[in-house]
Amino acid sequence: WAAFILRVMQTAEARGLVVALAGPASSGKSSVGAAAAAQLGYRFCDTGLLYRAVTWLALRREIDPDDPEAPSALVSLVPEVQLLDVGDGRLAHVAVDDVDETVEVHVPEVDAAVSAVARVPELRAALLERQRAIAAGGRIIMAGRDIGTVVLPGADLKLFLDASVEDVRAELVRLPTRAERCSTASPQPSCRMNPRTRPPSWHLASWFMGWTGSPSHGTDGAPFSS
Ligand code: C5P
Repeated sequence: WAAFILRVMQTAEARGLVVALAGPASSGKSSVGAAAAAQLGYRFCDTGLLYRAVTWLALRREIDPDDPEAPSALVSLVPEVQLLDVGDGRLAHVAVDDVDETVEVHVPEVDAAVSAVARVPELRAALLERQRAIAAGGRIIMAGRDIGTVVLPGADLKLFLDASVEDVRAELVRLPTRAERCSTASPQPSCRMNPRTRPPSWHLASWFMGWTGSPSHGTDGAPFSS
């Protein structure tokens, strides 16, 4: 672990970290990621906005994601969507055809439709390149459910933010990188990410959050816990 921490810090000095922040819906990825980025002076990217904006546009254009023509129609919407810097490097707003539609993409109609749209592989492939291009500059926290597994598998740090429905206290768990999981004496069969893993590296997440100066307490005032 000493070597790992040293590598992380050297990377940070060289170009700033690329941090992948994953977790289920409504786990607070955007709030926590944006707060940490603000304190670090990092950029922040909420990738859910991309999927929401494409979905909002698809609803307006009456594109049914189950239609055989839907994949190409959805991909053609991608150039119309742009993430907006809110002024401090945080890409927390989204524009469609140069109009800020951040509020519109959070309406219940989009909530209900976005999963079906986001399941279209062709759309995911189109947005994958967009997300990697954003991350390429480094010094960024990117939030999204597939960020650590698909978009940025080589991220310097992967954090999983989990919040139960019954207890809104958030818990941050640093997930092992694919290389770490596959290089152990008994690697997991598929070397795939296991979001329920609780590695002994939990304290590294605490260390990271302390280092960034980001909140150690959830929005309800309760401390993060493992
Ligand atoms: O994060 P948020 O809830 O705004 O994301 C909206 C939806 O977009 C998710 O429920 C998911 O269906 C999709 N999404 C995704 N991959 C991402 C980000 C979001 O499939 N990286």
